[in-house]
Amino acid sequence: MTLRGLDIGDNDLLARWALDAIRDGVVVLDTDFSILLANDTIKDLHREKTPLTGKRCYETFHDRPEPCPGCPYPSVLRTGESQTVLFEYVDGDLTRLYEITMHRLDDADGNGMGIVGHTTEVTKHKLAEQELQDDINRRRVMVEKSRDGIVILDRHGKVVEANERFACMLGYTIEEVYKLRIYDWEAAHPKDVVLQMMATVDEVGDHFETRHKRKDGTFLDVEISSNGVYYGGQKLIFCVCRDITEKKIMERRIHELATRDCLTDVYNRRYVFERLLEMVAEHSRGDSSFCVSILDIDHFKTVNDIHGHQAGDFALKEFTRTVASMIRQYDLLGRYGGEEFIIISRTGSAWETFAMIERIMRTVRHKAFIFEGREIHLTFSCGLADSAEFPRETLTVEAIISLADERLYDAKATGRNCCIGPAGLLQGLGANETARSSGS
Ligand code: GH3
Ligand code: MG
Ligand code: MG
Repeated sequence: MTLRGLDIGDNDLLARWALDAIRDGVVVLDTDFSILLANDTIKDLHREKTPLTGKRCYETFHDRPEPCPGCPYPSVLRTGESQTVLFEYVDGDLTRLYEITMHRLDDADGNGMGIVGHTTEVTKHKLAEQELQDDINRRRVMVEKSRDGIVILDRHGKVVEANERFACMLGYTIEEVYKLRIYDWEAAHPKDVVLQMMATVDEVGDHFETRHKRKDGTFLDVEISSNGVYYGGQKLIFCVCRDITEKKIMERRIHELATRDCLTDVYNRRYVFERLLEMVAEHSRGDSSFCVSILDIDHFKTVNDIHGHQAGDFALKEFTRTVASMIRQYDLLGRYGGEEFIIISRTGSAWETFAMIERIMRTVRHKAFIFEGREIHLTFSCGLADSAEFPRETLTVEAIISLADERLYDAKATGRNCCIGPAGLLQGLGANETARSSGS
């Protein structure tokens, strides 16, 4: 069945059907605001007021005794320019939003004789728009209030967007930041590496630490989370930069605490053994040789007994300060045990190391460590072993340490205050020098 096939007879009926069939509301008003025609959608909305024809629109639709303030009707009628207004309609618990567009109805001479009001429900649309706007605002606040710097770069490394925090971290104004490229602040990687990183970063992203150069030339440790996103047909690199200065200070502090002896501040035993393991590995590859010297303060128990434990601590600290000031640049000084220390010498021959130990012995021997006005004199004994004394494949940390220990034991047995090294090396103390210690 078709409409043409029906015996409708008049177009007015067809027009009515058409108006009733559409979901939007259509209402025709006379110049005095009275309703001339309303389609089914409008009637459904104002069911309790039907019939609508002949009633004033403001009484019927808005329950007002006179035209609504701000109603665009008079102006549309006067100017002929269509206007759209938004209005709320409370339907039980529901508040619906409608957009009404008013078009002027003209006679053959172009004079306004009424209005066609076209009403569309926009509740969902407006809510979605509001949600979108809220979302945009929330994200803007998140970006602006973020404690991290946020910067978006194009594929050439030029700044496309940045937040205040990013500018502040680098010491630039936000306007200045928009003129920068990544090479202006990236300090840990050369330009070609940065370009490569930007070319390869994908949506999964990257996470790494680096250094940024500030406007004033100082540096900032940062942690970067970056990822590549395609937006508007181009690749953008989204970077979140976190200032990790505090974290780096903490890391260094923790590393210091983990590697240093808390009384003397020289390396601790664990650290020394880790380094020794590396050096044994290097030695087995034929890359290097090294010497191990174990120093043990003579009769130190007596220092404690005579001067007290605090004086003993003080003497240990002063002793290590003296030794530390006399070792060579690449030597490593650690506390091996209570009053025992270890020097690992990475450069020079055993002879040179032996000569250095002798110099330290002489200095310590002639030094008075003053604690609360009292003099403390120290000497020490030393056992020295050279990695070159071992066939490459048999050298172990334990082997070289026990050899140095054995020689230290011999040095103690020989009368203390001397150093015993590989065969052929001098036996430490000059014959005319006498060991003096507060305890001997
Ligand atoms: P030797 O010449 O045979 O080495 O005699 P010694 O007295 O130095 O050796 P011994 O092993 O008998 O005693 C070591 C002393 O070092 C005992 C201990 O109280 C002291 N000592 C170890 N660590 C510390 C420390 O941190 N502070 C103080 N004040 N004394 C320490
Ligand atoms: Mg000892
Ligand atoms: Mg001792």
